[in-house]
Amino acid sequence: MASSSVASSPVFLSGTHPIASPLISPAPRCRKEVSRKILAVMAPAQSRSPSTTGSVKHAMTLTEKILARASERPQLSPGENVWVNVDVLMTHDICGPGTIGIFKKEFGENAKVWDREKIVIIPDHYIFTSDERANRNVDILRDFCMEQNIEYFYDIKDLSNFRVNPDYKGVCHIALAQEGHCRPGEVLLGTDSHTCNAGAFGQFATGIGNTDAGFVMGTGKVLLKIPPTLRFILDGEMPNFLLAKDLILQIIGEITVSGGTYRSMEFVGSTIESLTMEERMTLCNMVVEAGAKNGVVPADLTTFNYLEGKTSVNYEPVYSDGHAKFLQEYRIDVSKLEPLVAKPHSPDNRALARECKDVKIDRVYIGSCTGGKTEDFMAAAKVFLSSGTKVKVPTFLVPATQKVWMDLYALPVPGSGGKTCSQIFEEAGCDVPASPSCGACLGGPQDTYGRMNEAKVCVSTTNRNFPGRMGHKEGQIYLASPYTAAASALTGLVTDPRDFLR
Ligand code: SF4
Repeated sequence: MASSSVASSPVFLSGTHPIASPLISPAPRCRKEVSRKILAVMAPAQSRSPSTTGSVKHAMTLTEKILARASERPQLSPGENVWVNVDVLMTHDICGPGTIGIFKKEFGENAKVWDREKIVIIPDHYIFTSDERANRNVDILRDFCMEQNIEYFYDIKDLSNFRVNPDYKGVCHIALAQEGHCRPGEVLLGTDSHTCNAGAFGQFATGIGNTDAGFVMGTGKVLLKIPPTLRFILDGEMPNFLLAKDLILQIIGEITVSGGTYRSMEFVGSTIESLTMEERMTLCNMVVEAGAKNGVVPADLTTFNYLEGKTSVNYEPVYSDGHAKFLQEYRIDVSKLEPLVAKPHSPDNRALARECKDVKIDRVYIGSCTGGKTEDFMAAAKVFLSSGTKVKVPTFLVPATQKVWMDLYALPVPGSGGKTCSQIFEEAGCDVPASPSCGACLGGPQDTYGRMNEAKVCVSTTNRNFPGRMGHKEGQIYLASPYTAAASALTGLVTDPRDFLR
């Protein structure tokens, strides 16, 4: 249960009225020109009718506008079912073999995928393991990518040293962003529930099952019901002890794990505008923990700057109309929030970190698509640096991608006199950063690094704390920000990072 002090917090207000005021100014359009060519075997090539420039009869939300354009409709409303043209389909080593099997069964052994340049295949889940079935999954992906001449396959052949595999990236959602596959205004589908991560780019991004993915692989289309939109307006200066993880734990604690079911969650406000792309990803990554179909942050200069040099594909952002109808509006004064955790065994089991100060822990895990990005490790390093002491429990570090791993050894941590994260982690007594992958975020095979093979209590920067999620079904997982995770590692108890961050 959420603590009563949080549940009654005055900083989180909700209303049930559709709002009709332009609370944000549309950011300037990207200067790049949009490709209007549609590549899909089921539809004749024709010009799209972007809802941003066509005759719009009623106002639409950002998500509705993306899906209107992708379905070649001038307008649409929540609840409608439409065929949507997909811009990118991602799959990985867990769901890829199943997706490929369905594609071949339904389209034929010799069928060709709808577009070899729009399918992205990323081995990331069960990689550094001797489990033969897990290894076989990656082999299936490799054979298929060679057969289909897939343009974007981030392969790993030598498991003994990830660094000799230059194509290998790591966790799919962060790799998608770093490799320029996340673009404003587009539709990105993936066979993974946290595909919603890419909503940080003002993109419609959601997870689909293997059956849908097999169909998309053959046609480039998917049938989607248009979700209504919940709008979250976050204003106020972000205190220096909070991270985006605290914001999304606050929201999920408020609306519960079913509060966003088949809804779009749109994040706006001055706080959101101040967030980096990695922090926006953390926010959108966990909307599925509230049951949402997708999450979106309107694209702005921060987005365009991040994308600079990452993609040569033209894109066109869209924005919610001023009079768009939202199912519900929530306002949060971020300046009044405190560091949070989600207690076992649900992401909505919210509590203040300081309310759990007597909870003894056995380990800390910093990693995953939610909490294993460069800035997440920078945040943890900041806490270790402020403390100057050593961790009291084993502290596992699993960078999301190869790029993040390299950043840990190359980038100086601000205020450290030039030290890197890896140096600070070593001085603090943490484990050496592991090979990039999903690691123990979802348990994985028995020999997975950091897996909870016994009933331990863990503070983790991951996104789910269901029984058995990180291995042992009696393990207890406290979801937290990298600040809170690092502070907890230093004390061996769930700890409010304000004890170390001044
Ligand atoms: S890091 Fe965890 S949540 Fe993210 S894709 Fe991998 S298993 Fe899923």
